[in-house]
Amino acid sequence: MATGLKKLKSKVAYYYDPDVGNYSYGFGHPMKPHRMRMVHNLVVNYELDKKMQILKPPRASPEEMTRFHTDEYIDFLKHVTPETAADLTRNHEICGFSTPRLAPNSPYKVLSGEDCPSFEGLFEFCSISAGGSIAAANRLTSGESDIAVNWAGGLHHAKKREASGFCYVNDIVLSIIELLRYHQRVLYIDIDIHHGDGVEEAFYTTDRVLTCSFHKYPDYFPGTGSTDDTGMYKGKSYSINFPLRDGIDDESYQSVFKPTIQRIMDYYRPGAVVLQCGADSLAGDKLGVFNLSMKGHAECVEFVKGFNLPMIVLGGGGYAVRNVSRTWTYETGLLVDKELEEDLPFNDYLDYYGPRYKLDVPETNMENHNTREYLQDIQQKVFDHLNNLPFAPSAQMRQVPNDPWEYSDHSDEDLDDKISKAANQYYEEPEMEEDDYQSAYKNRSVRLNGRNRTQNLQRQKRRFFQSAQTSGADQQHTHHSGCGHSHAPKPQLDDLLKLVVGPSAKRKPISHTPQSRLYDNSPEYL
Ligand SMILES: [Zn+2]
Repeated sequence: MATGLKKLKSKVAYYYDPDVGNYSYGFGHPMKPHRMRMVHNLVVNYELDKKMQILKPPRASPEEMTRFHTDEYIDFLKHVTPETAADLTRNHEICGFSTPRLAPNSPYKVLSGEDCPSFEGLFEFCSISAGGSIAAANRLTSGESDIAVNWAGGLHHAKKREASGFCYVNDIVLSIIELLRYHQRVLYIDIDIHHGDGVEEAFYTTDRVLTCSFHKYPDYFPGTGSTDDTGMYKGKSYSINFPLRDGIDDESYQSVFKPTIQRIMDYYRPGAVVLQCGADSLAGDKLGVFNLSMKGHAECVEFVKGFNLPMIVLGGGGYAVRNVSRTWTYETGLLVDKELEEDLPFNDYLDYYGPRYKLDVPETNMENHNTREYLQDIQQKVFDHLNNLPFAPSAQMRQVPNDPWEYSDHSDEDLDDKISKAANQYYEEPEMEEDDYQSAYKNRSVRLNGRNRTQNLQRQKRRFFQSAQTSGADQQHTHHSGCGHSHAPKPQLDDLLKLVVGPSAKRKPISHTPQSRLYDNSPEYL
């Protein structure tokens, strides 16, 4: 039915803070924030800025970060300096408080040595990265853009109370939390060479977010991401892992990426997609061992874009900076439907691109250890898990009050609960029938339906927060936090998850021990 397909032009927002390139993880560290400056410079010199809105994101506040992370951890990031890092971690103190979590011999680490050093401006760097991804989510839910890009985001290893793998604040989880206020289901796709463990773990027990990661496994950081890790409780079957071997090339990658994503789209029916475009899966990466060309990597972006769903596009790993900037620039061009010249335009960092001065990142002749049999075997396992998925889960209507804002009349109710319940109103929007979905997908018109819906929901959101502010003033209360300051109540991920696991359920701490994560089977969880 190709004749019925109409290519829709997307409104693209691109978030960039000119300060981001000024931060440094330290001499010799593979992660170089400077690469974002190189991308932006190339983007502007290819004149892609004329095809999208370039926006400087507001920096994420500590309060926004603690929607996922613990107060203690964020306070620690805010106060730690290269000079105090050793003392603060050695003495197992955060912000003046001894915490049992950091008792001697605890498996927990806050900052892990060389990978996640404390560096000058660490907190500001995190607030830029997270601020861009949160702003990207808000941009989509307001209906102002169809696609929002934040190359400074995608830091997928950060955990609730721990930095990991060059990642301190998980901007992805924070952006998905924003999307969950409006969308019943969010799909997260991760094409970084490393397993997207921080995001998977955050949503491991919910069916509201399906995470799908393609990565090298086993014997590779962070040590997780087997096909057998499929989620728990209500989230069972909603974590999809596609382990790959060294040297995977474009053809092999697409032979599994496209069918897997198509199957997820068919059955899961997400309202929005977050795509983490880690560029360490490219050929020639300094840490990576895959063999994707720039065009092979970008084919993933193009394929996901083809579903015309509201989409956040994020960065991630990528340690051959000249190839990272080539690829993310090319992918930005693809998002705004602009073909880029093969010869690089003049730009501030031209020296990096010699001797060829070309845009492309070609495959190399490295051996592909992913045999057809291996890929088919893994594909079958993944499909078997996907077959467990019900069609468009959690779409059943629940009994909800006619007036979404009636909660504000109950002054004895915790504001967190109010926000959770009010957010629930957004999820209860009428779902399309399966047949409607089928035709919507065929016509690629889901995007337009989504836009009308999100505009409507945005109006509801404004009403809610006005209402919440008023009632919040009546029942101001504070709670004691790890640093002894008083904070206004705020919506928490736990509250969002209450919607899934029941109001009395609390998330239990999860062991962060690499290789074998242990989940607490407390019945309280169920
Ligand atoms: Zn990576």
